[in-house]
Amino acid sequence: MPERGPDAVVIGAGPNGLAAAIKVAQTGRSVIVLEAEETIGGGTRSANLTVPGFIHDVCSAVHPLAVGSSFFRSLPLARHGLEFIHPEIPLAHPLDDTTVELSRSVEETSTGLGTDASAYLRVMRPLVRNADFLMRQFFAPFRVTPEMATHAPLLARFGMLAIRSAVGLGNAIFKQAPARALLAGLAAHAIQPLENLSTGGYGLMLGVSAHAYGWPVARGGSQKIADALVGELQSLGGRVMTGRRVGSIADLPPARAYLFDVTPRHLDQLTRFRYGPGVFKLDWALDTPIPWRDPRCLRAGTVHLGGTLDEIAASEAAIGKGQAPQAPYVLLSQPSLFDATRAPAGKHTVWAYCHVPNGSTVDMTDRMEAQIERFAPGFKNRVLARNVMTPADVERHNANCVGGDINGGSGDLRQWFLRPTWRRYATPNRQIYICSSSTPPTGGVHGLCGFFAAQTALRRAFR
Ligand SMILES: Cc1cc2nc3c(=O)[nH]c(=O)nc-3n(C[C@H](O)[C@H](O)[C@H](O)COP(=O)(O)OP(=O)(O)OC[C@H]3O[C@@H](n4cnc5c(N)ncnc54)[C@H](O)[C@@H]3O)c2cc1C
Repeated sequence: MPERGPDAVVIGAGPNGLAAAIKVAQTGRSVIVLEAEETIGGGTRSANLTVPGFIHDVCSAVHPLAVGSSFFRSLPLARHGLEFIHPEIPLAHPLDDTTVELSRSVEETSTGLGTDASAYLRVMRPLVRNADFLMRQFFAPFRVTPEMATHAPLLARFGMLAIRSAVGLGNAIFKQAPARALLAGLAAHAIQPLENLSTGGYGLMLGVSAHAYGWPVARGGSQKIADALVGELQSLGGRVMTGRRVGSIADLPPARAYLFDVTPRHLDQLTRFRYGPGVFKLDWALDTPIPWRDPRCLRAGTVHLGGTLDEIAASEAAIGKGQAPQAPYVLLSQPSLFDATRAPAGKHTVWAYCHVPNGSTVDMTDRMEAQIERFAPGFKNRVLARNVMTPADVERHNANCVGGDINGGSGDLRQWFLRPTWRRYATPNRQIYICSSSTPPTGGVHGLCGFFAAQTALRRAFR
């Protein structure tokens, strides 16, 4: 008799694939996950990239979306070894003459913003108070919910601010460089020119996540997130098989539903789906902490480097024109300051990337290190070893990062609503679903694309 296949097969063991598999397994159905690489985790892998004894996050490092995710919060991941560590403050943004500190408290943050303190409080306080509602609303496929009526005044106010570009919003609500720079650094995570509509909203939401949930790192590395998800899946009877690249549907065992944690290009169906800029990433092993000129930067898990709003906007605008920026905006994380398991005693790991045009071949090492030296003179003398990942290396590490795009496709306003098509997770084939970060809500380690895709599959394929 032919062996009976599982109820569902998930292709790809990234956070969304694993979340989808857990959601299916929670209903008592059998599920297996086929992962192309020898290790699990997709964008949440950690590895020894420099010298023995140093653990580096290969992709994701900072996890506000994981701690804010309603699905991850519903899972007993701590039981499977996952622990988030909160740095003293989530974010520091040094300027040439001062440093903006974003702490968990909105009030404390505002005190460092001079005459913009009251504007910051006015904008952020109501949003942070309603962070869980905003997370539920915006980290989900767009839908009309009864909650929207209750929060109509908040939504209207947020909508009017959020639709604006980061440049427009920053210059309108703030008068001084520190607050404007803070918003620009947050908004630049959108990986779009900061003149684009809705980049202001992106910056506000990321700021809300820092105040409401913090920007923690996982003790022992981001790999622990994937390991905990696999632990939970196995406790529900699910299985993961590594080294199983799926090249075509014919490679798959019989099942009632297939959930693909892959980007649309690999499904050969959605050739018009657009990818965003890429990233150029560096990891360093250091023999001391970073010698920041302003020691307040040592309190932060994440540091935004790039200077003023105008400077950061220029860096992101260059990428929009297809050019690698001369003075890039750099996102930097220094996890070993707060997690002693990452490096030998007294030594440190640093993770950073900058944005570049999709598939760019320009070596950004010197430009990124110059940006760090600007705020931490002597940094380069502390480097024991560095690992370089070009956009092509990022894609080699994970086929979903097309041209170095870390968000599974451009997140501009047009594609936000058609991500990846009006069908969202479903395809014309009732058995096939997409559950990767190319679906709503978007990139990041939150598992919600997988959760909502599995909900859709359970409704349609198992009806
Ligand atoms: C450099 C970098 C930095 C990042 N920083 C952060 C951060 O700090 N915080 C944050 O929240 N997010 C961050 N992200 C984004 C985050 O990692 C992704 O959004 C997230 O991992 C997407 O999850 P996913 O499950 O959709 O896909 P992925 O994590 O990409 O997983 C997809 C999996 O599918 C596998 N796969 C692909 N094709 C096949 C195939 N044909 N057959 C079988 N398996 C296949 C891949 O090997 C991979 O394991 C970063 C990403 C990168 C690259």
